[in-house]
Amino acid sequence: MEVEEQVLAWNTLQNFINGQFVPAKDGETLDNIYPATSQVAGTIPRSKSQDVEVAVSSAKDALHLGPWGKTSVNERADLLEAIAQEIEDNFELFAYLESRDTGKPLSLTRRVDIPRAISNFRFFAGAVRHSRDDFHPMSDAFNYTLRRPVGVVGLITPWNLPLYLLSWKVAPALAMGNTIVAKPSELTPSTATLLADVISRVGVPQGVFQLVHGLGAEVGQAIVEHPDISAISFTGGTVTGKRVAATAAPQFKKLSLELGGKNPNIIFADCDFEKAVEGTMRASFTNQGQVCLCGSRVLVQREIFDAFTEAIVEKTKALVLGDPMDPQTEVGALVSVDHLEKVKGYVELAKEEGGDVLCGGERPEMPGVFADGAFLLPTIISGLTPQCRTVQEEIFGPVITLHPFDTVEEALEIANGVRYGLAASVWTQDLQKAHRVSAALETGMVWVNTWLHRDLRVPFGGLKDSGVGREGGAYSLSFFSEARNICIHMGEHWNNIGS
Ligand code: NAD
Repeated sequence: MEVEEQVLAWNTLQNFINGQFVPAKDGETLDNIYPATSQVAGTIPRSKSQDVEVAVSSAKDALHLGPWGKTSVNERADLLEAIAQEIEDNFELFAYLESRDTGKPLSLTRRVDIPRAISNFRFFAGAVRHSRDDFHPMSDAFNYTLRRPVGVVGLITPWNLPLYLLSWKVAPALAMGNTIVAKPSELTPSTATLLADVISRVGVPQGVFQLVHGLGAEVGQAIVEHPDISAISFTGGTVTGKRVAATAAPQFKKLSLELGGKNPNIIFADCDFEKAVEGTMRASFTNQGQVCLCGSRVLVQREIFDAFTEAIVEKTKALVLGDPMDPQTEVGALVSVDHLEKVKGYVELAKEEGGDVLCGGERPEMPGVFADGAFLLPTIISGLTPQCRTVQEEIFGPVITLHPFDTVEEALEIANGVRYGLAASVWTQDLQKAHRVSAALETGMVWVNTWLHRDLRVPFGGLKDSGVGREGGAYSLSFFSEARNICIHMGEHWNNIGS
């Protein structure tokens, strides 16, 4: 069967609970919309707390009663590798479904989303196989650290990088022996459902992985509230994150919050100009600017401000916007018309705040079936003060603002002058300056002369309103496990040389 036909077959999606695909208990559904046309592509269950209840109960049984609790690290790593292989074997179906749900270009899901999901499973298979635990000797005893699963974990993910971010949580959670209740965004449910299918096929025992579709306020909230869920790993907006924290913290659940950003992209006059332009284009408009790490505030040293502005405006106007399934397309649709309206609202606000729209800012005239799609021309705005709302609030679309600066101190003041603290990029050929600026930036991650250059071992996460906790490599394995210390008393001086 051609992949386009296979995609059509993935229209009536179901929950995945205790190894079975099932509808919501009350049979309610939500429409799944293809944002490039605004047409209905299928339905998902509109689950409620009663569905979460069954999912948690299955996950608890799988944790305590089934074969999962007896699996070795190597057996679990083998399963992760088998999942990675199955995704690879169904690569095109995953890539098409991801583009259909998000409206992002197929070229991007092929290049980034699906390859990363595969690497996430392979990476955590290797990481857990090679992980080590601590040993602390005393003069009369020794301590060793035992890692145990946290229990049933709740994984809640957003729509911008659906499988990429879900697999980033599922892989380490499985590696450490937890059982899972996952909720993908209601806007992008398909690849998570295909992942459930893959998980069921490679021999992961039933009840280990549950997927419950539905709205955040109904399903997400029920997951966070559930007393038998011991940890929540949440990626999404800061406002939702606050609510998740307020619900989970009084229950003393382990909590990882990966939230929004308003990231500075700082261009010094001594940068490699071409590379900085190229990097700024990627940091601004990848995934239609819907990456939490996008550099939406572009700070440019005054000597090169005009030349830099001219270069990126020209390149932005040349970006190819269109049918997400066309391999030539560089800019696809935003995730929904509602989101498009929110992003456009910020462009209007920018004008009221005195901004000058240098390019974009409008919905393009689209042909045929795409006429009602959620498209927005990539937008560059200049002339705004760093304090105004457009520059302070996360827009999460293809919109950047440009800001001239004179000194390092001024750049840092603007860069750090927001409530967010996720990531930053710095472009300079002066190594000392790069170190000094990087250390002074209030962000969890800094890229120097690059953007979104990822090593899966490094700590990933934000400061301030961008989140709590770190994911990645050993950080994820630590989050998804409880470290317990065992102290064995050995008698006097057992550990002293010559005694
Ligand atoms: P969102 O906060 O609206 O939704 C995220 C998820 O939370 C969805 O699955 C949603 O259904 C669910 N949810 C909503 N209300 C809930 C509640 N009361 N309880 C539990 N779950 C609930 O975010 P979004 O619009 O899907 O995603 C965009 C946001 O995600 C942006 O702010 C972006 O910066 C952020 N993000 C952050 C990272 C990161 O790693 N820091 C990565 C990607 C996206």
